Amino acid sequence: MAAARRCDVSTDMPRERPPGAAWRCAARLDRALRRGFGSPVQVDGILFDYGGTLDGPASHWLDRFVALYAAAGVDMPIGRLKPAFYAADEAAYGDAAVADMSLAELMDFHVAVQHARLGLDDAALRRRLADDFVAGTTAALAASRSVLERLARTHRLGVVSNFYGNVERILADAGFAPLLAVVADSNRVGASKPDRRIFDHALAALGTAPARTLHVGDSHERDVRAAKSLGLRTAWLVPQPLARDEYADLVITDLRELETGLTAEAQRRGG
Ligand SMILES: [Mg+2]
Repeated sequence: MAAARRCDVSTDMPRERPPGAAWRCAARLDRALRRGFGSPVQVDGILFDYGGTLDGPASHWLDRFVALYAAAGVDMPIGRLKPAFYAADEAAYGDAAVADMSLAELMDFHVAVQHARLGLDDAALRRRLADDFVAGTTAALAASRSVLERLARTHRLGVVSNFYGNVERILADAGFAPLLAVVADSNRVGASKPDRRIFDHALAALGTAPARTLHVGDSHERDVRAAKSLGLRTAWLVPQPLARDEYADLVITDLRELETGLTAEAQRRGG
């Protein structure tokens, strides 16, 4: 029972659990995936979040930057970086030029604002942080694209992202364009998750019914709870295995697990 309680979550962040419980959670997740969804469902379309979902499994950009500063030998506590990070985030949302930037240009911009706020003047460090962020993202996007290439054979796919206006550019540069029927970027749509308008925009373009559409994301509030409230099916991407969540139809640690869950569902329906 203790292990079961540790695997159950209803909050944004996974609870800490002793390492010995991890395998029990993983086994429960495997069983849940083999069962597929909680009730029979046909999934025609899949919408993906971008940040922390397609560009890295359940890894927030702020946490990624903390790790990159450490890797560069710079002691940067999260409490010091956080205001500078969100200043860069705010600046990117507010600067029209960002809406057309490539990933590399965006990260140059983002790191430059961070350092201006931090009072740092180190061009080599700026270069390293931006380059390392781009390298990590590029690798993660390539892995995600291979999953989406397989899912696109049987499903309509799209992206719903709270972003700066350039997520479609970034995805196109990474080879996603032929796979996606819609890319809904909050800065272009004029509404951000959890606002239903950005989901409605994506669903209209995807042409699938909410009950037959699966939304995949790493934010419990903006992805899972928002999509669930609109009648979509939901998959929550988390950093460590969890057995279940009351709002998520699937809980996954890797996008490849979607294929397992959807295949199990199709077999359950006799497909
Ligand atoms: Mg996200």
